Amino acid sequence: MTDLYRLLPEEMEQMVIELGQPRYRADQILFSLYYKFPKTISEIKQLPGAFRDTLVDKGFTIGSTQETHRITSEDGETTKLLLSLEDKVPVESVLMQYPPKKLFGHPRSTICVSTQVGCAMGCVFCATGQMGFDRNMKAEEIVGQVIHFAKILSDKGQHVTNIVFMGMGEPLANYSETIRAVQLLTHPRGFGIGQRSITISTIGIISSIDKLAEENLQIGLAISLHSPNDKLRQWLVPTAGENSVRDLIDAGQRYFLKTGRRVTFEYALIQGINDSVEIAKELALLLKNNGSHVNLIPLNPTAGDFERPARKNVIEFERILYNSGVNCTVRVEKGTEISAACGQLRTDVLGKYNNKRE
Ligand code: SAH
Ligand code: SF4
Repeated sequence: MTDLYRLLPEEMEQMVIELGQPRYRADQILFSLYYKFPKTISEIKQLPGAFRDTLVDKGFTIGSTQETHRITSEDGETTKLLLSLEDKVPVESVLMQYPPKKLFGHPRSTICVSTQVGCAMGCVFCATGQMGFDRNMKAEEIVGQVIHFAKILSDKGQHVTNIVFMGMGEPLANYSETIRAVQLLTHPRGFGIGQRSITISTIGIISSIDKLAEENLQIGLAISLHSPNDKLRQWLVPTAGENSVRDLIDAGQRYFLKTGRRVTFEYALIQGINDSVEIAKELALLLKNNGSHVNLIPLNPTAGDFERPARKNVIEFERILYNSGVNCTVRVEKGTEISAACGQLRTDVLGKYNNKRE
């Protein structure tokens, strides 16, 4: 079985030619996949019936991902889906919408995709990390999440404007499928979104960051730092191993030098753990003068006994960084009440853990 969403345009051409069809059949299939969002091959009406039958006979399919849960935040700006994959395992995808900047403009619609079922990195504050690792997702399953939301948006006359690889799993631990998904999503004859509209977030697998820098892509990179020192980071990210905070910053610098894209350091702010004034100063000292951008993410309480810091502590942390010349933003909290943090919905639905907010 091959999902048509797995094939890059060049591979699609090769496939149709091998099946004795003219080259333009590939464009007909691609147009249908990325503009009409068919659920089955029989819905690709541009193709002659006989060729549709051939595709089915040869084992081609169109995604088998099923939506099992959908929840929308009260303000209607965040929608979270639980999708069941071919082998019935559930993964999450989130749509976050931001109002248009201009009166009659379109909203910014960012899709957050998962790349693995579970995650082996075991970060202590992350619901996905606490559920353990199940399996890597295939490129077509990663793309399928975007397509699912693209269809929902297109029914409202809207479209996907950004994609972030910040859902369940560690994208760089599923390197080749993640890259294939990026190629499918950015290919002008594929989904066709600009490379600059995609950001990959990583816990910091250094060899893979260096490899990514060589891919000749213009995608954004976010490195999840969470601590200015190794002792605390190794406690928060138990699999950090040999990778020191210094190594991560250096890897970010190399990515910037190679691609020209500035790296963002993500920092989940956890009350009483990594949110003190002293730690803010330590972080500021580490990052000042190197053009880094820090994205502070006030914790979404999920796993363990971790809490979100009070608003005033978040602002104080930001102020210390800002006053030291470190570029810094606080992530807008979206969808907290619908369990929008990575891995949370799946955890809630499966009832695997006690969610203390219930
Ligand atoms: N594995 C990758 C990408 C997925 S997690 C990574 O770790 O970067 C995406 C982001 O969500 C990471 O920065 C992660 O630290 C953050 N995150 C995970 N659990 C969170 C929580 N409970 N509250 C706030 N941010 C969280
Ligand atoms: Fe995995 Fe990222 Fe969660 Fe860590 S924060 S466990 S790397 S998904």
